[in-house]
Amino acid sequence: MNIAVASGKGGTGKSMVAANLAFSLSVAESVALVDCDVEEPNLHLFFPEDQPEVSPVSILVPDVDPDRCTLCGECARFCAFGALVAARDRVLFFPLHCHSCGGCMVACPAGAIRETLRQIGTVTERSISPNLLLVTGTLNEGEVLGVKVIREAKGRAGAERWVIFDASPGTSCPVVETLEGVDFCILVTESTPFGLHDLALAYDVTLQKGIPSGVVVNRSDGKDEVVHRFCNENNIPVLAVIPFERKIAEIQGSGDLIARRDPAWKDRFCAIGRACRSLMEEGA
Ligand code: SF4
Ligand code: SF4
Repeated sequence: MNIAVASGKGGTGKSMVAANLAFSLSVAESVALVDCDVEEPNLHLFFPEDQPEVSPVSILVPDVDPDRCTLCGECARFCAFGALVAARDRVLFFPLHCHSCGGCMVACPAGAIRETLRQIGTVTERSISPNLLLVTGTLNEGEVLGVKVIREAKGRAGAERWVIFDASPGTSCPVVETLEGVDFCILVTESTPFGLHDLALAYDVTLQKGIPSGVVVNRSDGKDEVVHRFCNENNIPVLAVIPFERKIAEIQGSGDLIARRDPAWKDRFCAIGRACRSLMEEGA
């Protein structure tokens, strides 16, 4: 089963939920945990260091052969992203604008463009335990094609019984790419007016993608009425409420997992996983 963990904004504890859920389920079943927050991946901080296997993620970009180029400018006219400019004596290429569509190569009447690889990020695979694989997508600083790295990282998850994708915060293209093909989405929120506003935005994305969802309220101070009302009105199940407690904050502050330190929390996160599966099957 493929589950995405998302939130409408940063700082809700989304990665904490994803890491605890993956750890808890992996005690009995095989799990792949995929960090799709490629601009700021942080799931590795919850797990001990080991020897990771790092692979580059590259895209195809144009390489103009100056000996064949007639400076006709067709490639620059074709490129909708402004990545190519035909100057008086050569064609200028701006790699950060290139979306790797390959169109300029087809448009060139002189056959002067070939494609070459340009690295934009990496995917790291680490075996945390015999049952838990951590895959981390990392976009190189300054690069913009995060969706390519997300796609590559998701592809490494394999055939584990559970695959958990930690999405980037917000509702932009990387989140939409992360949600592609998932069975269920856990929306992590806080019980504040801002939290509710961003929860509504994230829920809207899952609705548009046709993905069933459930809510985890994090750092609850017990005054969660607005979140519960929103969930009731929209028929969204509340999967768990994690209280705002000093002990939990200290465990998380030390980079540990509450599910690793407290078997009761491990059981609660396993119950969240089972609830996701039941809700997905009910909706199927
Ligand atoms: S591959 Fe596509 S985006 Fe990149 S330079 Fe060529 S036409 Fe532009
Ligand atoms: S389309 Fe081909 S020949 Fe024309 S400017 Fe571009 S690279 Fe040169």
